[in-house]
Amino acid sequence: MTVSKFVIIGAGLAGAKTAQALRDKGFDGQIVVIGDEVERPYERPPLSKEYLTGKAERDSVFVHDAAWYAEHDVDLRTDTVVTGIDRVSKTVSVSDGDPVAYDKLVLATGSRSREFPGAGRDTGAYYLRRLEDSDRLRELFRVARKIVLVGGGWIGLEVAAAARGAGVEVVIVEPEELPLIRILGRRVAQVFADLQVRHGVELRTGVKVAAVEVDAGSGALVRLEGGETIAADAVVIGIGAVPNTELAEAAGLSVSNGVEVDAGLRTSDPDVFAVGDIANAENPALGRRIRVEHWANALNQPAVAAANMLGGDEVYQRLPYFYTDQYELGMEYVGYADGDADVVTRGDLAKPEFLAFWLEDGKVVAGMNVNIWDQGDAIKALIASGRVVDQAKLADPDVSLADV
Ligand SMILES: Cc1cc2nc3c(=O)[nH]c(=O)nc-3n(C[C@H](O)[C@H](O)[C@H](O)COP(=O)(O)OP(=O)(O)OC[C@H]3O[C@@H](n4cnc5c(N)ncnc54)[C@H](O)[C@@H]3O)c2cc1C
Repeated sequence: MTVSKFVIIGAGLAGAKTAQALRDKGFDGQIVVIGDEVERPYERPPLSKEYLTGKAERDSVFVHDAAWYAEHDVDLRTDTVVTGIDRVSKTVSVSDGDPVAYDKLVLATGSRSREFPGAGRDTGAYYLRRLEDSDRLRELFRVARKIVLVGGGWIGLEVAAAARGAGVEVVIVEPEELPLIRILGRRVAQVFADLQVRHGVELRTGVKVAAVEVDAGSGALVRLEGGETIAADAVVIGIGAVPNTELAEAAGLSVSNGVEVDAGLRTSDPDVFAVGDIANAENPALGRRIRVEHWANALNQPAVAAANMLGGDEVYQRLPYFYTDQYELGMEYVGYADGDADVVTRGDLAKPEFLAFWLEDGKVVAGMNVNIWDQGDAIKALIASGRVVDQAKLADPDVSLADV
């Protein structure tokens, strides 16, 4: 009897969870996980939160302990780059060693930080994607007096909170009128802006960075459009992520804003699957294709991909879920809303302790709980119900979400 061999490219959360799901479902063939990082698979959210602030130990970020891979007969090859996929011979080429044959292949190559033109990783500018980036920032926060953060996205705001916690002066430069305004709308975005300002961050909004100059000796200089300059000890760039789709593209798979997969996470080649940040997946619950760069997606998609690799017919239709922690604010967001959705809130935005809902055609399509921890399931149920809600009741904390 021939033994099946499943190869997983990318040793991040999605790659590691795919290997685990295959074993959990009883697959007893060969599993090879190939990743270009030196570390075994780890989770990235702590890198801008509790690991960055020194509250969590290094060991706590890993997906599995070091012994797990051998114990589950998973051949983990770290520090190895996959350089190509040949779908005819069903092999992947690697940076060191012979090509690796596969029966089924999983793409879990994730994303990389988007680089600011002229201030790439090689210039001394700081980025945050990998464990070593978080280590480097921790070291920076020990010695720096002042940093400039280019970009006020989720990761930028979390880095700002960690830096302030370490007593570092922070300037955030954000081209939009408010950080996160496109995702959250004005009222809720203002809560996140106020939080940063309350904690002493200098928030420069509505202004673009024209150039970043980094000098290892004297620090960094950020030039704004209009001519003003901001000098600091270092510049941290947080302008989003780019999906690592080059391998898929070169292999002739359908790629548009990520690797296109069906609701069962199959690519245009039935022997190749994609999970995590790179998967632009049909989501039956949303009735559309969606790619999200969220931890929960990388955690939960692998079980569906693994089931289907083993001949099943499962679909992934969870609602997107995201969370953040900044200073005293903890928040969860579930669902998917376009930037121009109507926003209804209930509770106290100033405290902050509130719920927010994004509505399309009178129906709740996304919801957020800020420092309220017992309403998550009710928000999900409201979105799933697909019913038109009474907006006055939705805003009233005395009305149960089941009755709006
Ligand atoms: C600092 C930070 C904080 C975050 N915080 C949150 C949060 O609070 N909440 C949330 O929901 N999400 C958060 N995210 C996003 C979340 O971490 C990602 O969605 C998740 O990591 C995606 O997992 P993945 O396995 O798909 O990809 P990745 O984690 O990117 O893993 C992919 C791996 O594949 C490797 N790889 C790529 N190409 C190759 C190749 N050719 N050969 C070999 N290996 C390759 C990559 O180097 C990487 O190691 C955060 C991300 C970062 C960076």
